[in-house]
Formats: sequence, C-alpha cells, structure tokens
Amino acid sequence: MSEKQSKAFVVFSGGQDSTTCLFWAKQRFQEVEAVTFNYGQRHKLELECAASIAAELGIKHHVLDMSLLGQLAPNALTRSDMAIEQGDNGLPTTFVDGRNMLFLTFAAVLAKQHGARHLVTGVCETDFSGYPDCRDVFIKSLNVTLNLAMDYPFVVETPLMWLNKAETWALADELGALDYVREKTLTCYNGVQADGCGECPACELRRRGLEQYLAAKAGGSGV
Ligand SMILES: [Zn+2]
Repeated sequence: MSEKQSKAFVVFSGGQDSTTCLFWAKQRFQEVEAVTFNYGQRHKLELECAASIAAELGIKHHVLDMSLLGQLAPNALTRSDMAIEQGDNGLPTTFVDGRNMLFLTFAAVLAKQHGARHLVTGVCETDFSGYPDCRDVFIKSLNVTLNLAMDYPFVVETPLMWLNKAETWALADELGALDYVREKTLTCYNGVQADGCGECPACELRRRGLEQYLAAKAGGSGV
C-alpha cells in the first residue's frame, strides 16, 4: 500500500457498516475522526455504542445534533409509535428523504474545519433498500457539489458501495475486526447490541450475511 493519506472523517453510527468503515479508514489514513448524528434515535444506546467504540479505538468523536430530522419528516427511526415496515410508497418507514445527503453535507463542513479531505461513509447500493441517496451516482454528484460549494477537494470514500452483507463481514475479517464488529456494534432496530433481537429486518439482514460469510469461509471458498 502507498503511504497513508492524511486525514479522514468517518460518518459513524456505531452499526456494523460504519464500524467496518472505521477500521477500513484506520488502515488507510494517518488520522481518523468520527462524526455521529444525534437525531432523536429511538434508542439512546446507539449513541452510547458509537461513543464507546470511538473511545476504544482511540478516535476523536464528534456528535452533532440533528434533532430537526424528526421535525422534517415523521419516520420510524425517531418515532416509537411508528412500526418499522414497508410503507405505502414502497420504501421502509425508516426512510427519511435526503438523510444521507444532509449527514454527509454536515460531516463535510466539520471535516473541512478539522483539515480533513476524505469523507468515509458506509452507504451501499447493493442492499440499498430503495434509498436514493445511498446510490453511487448520488454520492459522486454530491462529491462534486461539496467541492464546488466549499471550494475544497473532498474525496467521498464508499468502501461498502458494491458489497453485499456477507462481503461486508468478509471485509471486517480482512481488517482483523470480525469479532469486534460482531460483538460491539448495534444494528438492531430494537436496540439490542451484537447479534441483536434476531427478529427485525436489520437483524435478519445482518444474520443472513454473517451466516453466508461464515459458511463460505468454512468451505474454503470466497463469498
Ligand atoms: Zn433486531
């Protein structure tokens, strides 16, 4: 690998994907900082989980208040009276229009202040559940927009863009972080750390990917 690049900011939720991105960034950049958005998540544990992972990995952690998200759009991520399910528009009720765009844009403003050019996000087109602002074409478009908006050469890094869940587990394993990601992260919509509640859509997706990866590994084949 070429010499490590200077500094990256990771958009970090404490979940499987962004924690894998954190390990990925640590391997590539001299300095890594993380930014987590507090948008009134159903489970405060999510924020605690993100803070403790950042502390354990020795990463400077910023938490930004994005509670206005719940004002902009009612959604199942912030409202405990809304079920997590497929909505009438074909999108899950966890969807918030423009959420990734907003998060990345705020992360960019902060990153520039701290002298970081690289923004790392765990968005993924493979399992994108219909979220338009997780698509590669959108990220590339936003990258251009950010650079023009702030006259700054940002590089938006998306290490998980074309990976499925099994391949994301494989990447964590390559980075020597499989057990860490499995035990310390929180992906579950019901706020249960590690392997989760086992019943919500997030747990289902995570478990299926892990089983697939572990089976492939045991069988000696790639994912
Ligand atoms: Zn769950």
